[in-house]
Amino acid sequence: MRRVYVRELKVYDALTDELVAEGFDRLEQIARYCYDNRLELPLHSKFGTFLRDAEGRFLYRGTHPGDFETADGEIVEGLSICPVCAGLAQPRSEGECMICTLCGFEFQCIPPQEEIGEVD
Ligand SMILES: [Zn+2]
Repeated sequence: MRRVYVRELKVYDALTDELVAEGFDRLEQIARYCYDNRLELPLHSKFGTFLRDAEGRFLYRGTHPGDFETADGEIVEGLSICPVCAGLAQPRSEGECMICTLCGFEFQCIPPQEEIGEVD
C-alpha cells in the first residue's frame, strides 16, 4: 500500500513528497479518501496527531503486530502505543516504564531486579 502523510490538510506521498490530493476541510475526509484509495496514513493518536519517531519520521503499522515502520519500511524498535490515547510511548530510561509522549501515561512497568522476591 502506498504510504502517505498529511500536512495542512493535503496528502503527500511519503517517499517522494509528491502531492497526492488536496481540497479537504477535515482530517476525517482525508481518512475516508485514503481508505477508499488504499493509501496508508501514519499511525495516529486519539487526538488526531500523527506519530513520529525521535527523528521526526512518520511511523506506520509494521508487518508484524506491535512493529513500527518508517515510510521506506525501516523497522523502528523500542516504542509502544499508549493504551490510553494511542499516542507514542517510549521507555523513560533503560528498563523502566514506557511513558506516553502525548499524555504522560506510564505502563509496562517492570520492577528492578533487586526488588523481586528478596526480603531480609
Ligand atoms: Zn497517552
